[in-house]
Amino acid sequence: NGGEGGVGKLERILVSVRLRPLSDMEIAKGDPAEWECINDTTIISRSTFPDRPTAPTVYSFDRVFRSDCDTKEVYKEGAKEVALSVVSGINSSIFAYGQTSSGKTYTMTGITEYTVADIYDYIGKHEERAFVLKFSAIEIYNEVVRDLLSAENTYLRLWDDAEKGTYVENLTEVVLRDWNHLKELISVCEAQRKTGETYLNENSSRSHQILKLTIESSAHEFLGKDKSTTLVASVNFVDLAGSERASQALSAGARLKEGCHINRSLLTLGTVIRKLSKVRNEHIPYRDSKLTRILQPSLGGNARTAIICTMSPARSHMEQSRNSLLFASCAK
Ligand code: ADP
Ligand code: MG
Repeated sequence: NGGEGGVGKLERILVSVRLRPLSDMEIAKGDPAEWECINDTTIISRSTFPDRPTAPTVYSFDRVFRSDCDTKEVYKEGAKEVALSVVSGINSSIFAYGQTSSGKTYTMTGITEYTVADIYDYIGKHEERAFVLKFSAIEIYNEVVRDLLSAENTYLRLWDDAEKGTYVENLTEVVLRDWNHLKELISVCEAQRKTGETYLNENSSRSHQILKLTIESSAHEFLGKDKSTTLVASVNFVDLAGSERASQALSAGARLKEGCHINRSLLTLGTVIRKLSKVRNEHIPYRDSKLTRILQPSLGGNARTAIICTMSPARSHMEQSRNSLLFASCAK
């Protein structure tokens, strides 16, 4: 995988699974660890499912990370190559998928920080070019888009532009000064997300968060002056809504229904990713949800994608974890 992807060649989606440690609560309840990584690519469940005695209990992915792996390793093996393609002008998206409390935010926060640290490292080694890093952050809740860098709780509209493609109207975009500035902005987003939750009576497990980093680079004399010599690309760090909302509908192959309580963006993302990974020249329903409309330039085509499915090892979460593994299998 990766490496020799020539022009026009469809890169596979990099799919990995991260098992978190049992939580204190799971341990206190005597909830046993059901899942085990038997090598770097294979995860198994210790018992079969009573209702599906013939269901496979062995799953293989590009990479599986055992519960004692740190986020640095998950980043290096499961995201780094895809995320850093942005410095070569290639768009990319990194997704964390999994049920609530499986470790999505924990994983995605670390990956975002490691990526930006590596980008600054790269910039330091390429003094012949000038770089500008821009950061923006949104939340999508019930198909409503909110700016996580703005204190106003206004809803943002999506527009289609012949040149720019789909874009979010009036979105705050901040030019990054350095790595610490990124940490500050991430704290602002976290605070905004919490405020929105209280104020709008939301539940963050039902919203998607997209942190977007855009890099423009050019030979010093051309930056900002000559568009033709400037490379522009973005990497999106996507902390998805809890998959418990969509997994049942997904596994049943249900069609999206207006007004039902499943998450339209999460379901559409599943469909888009399944189609991207399997068939070429098939209609890809990017326009069916806000999430996929916004991410379209960073999904499919020449863009690179990595998905990290996070899961609890606990037996009590077995069915949800299995649904996450089925989602991950569809993306392979
Ligand atoms: P989610 O975003 O999927 O709802 P979180 O990332 O908030 O889940 O994780 C739930 C809890 O588990 C948090 O307290 C987090 O610190 C902890 N956690 C998650 N993954 C790990 C891990 N790999 N190692 C240690 N603690 C973890
Ligand atoms: Mg979270």
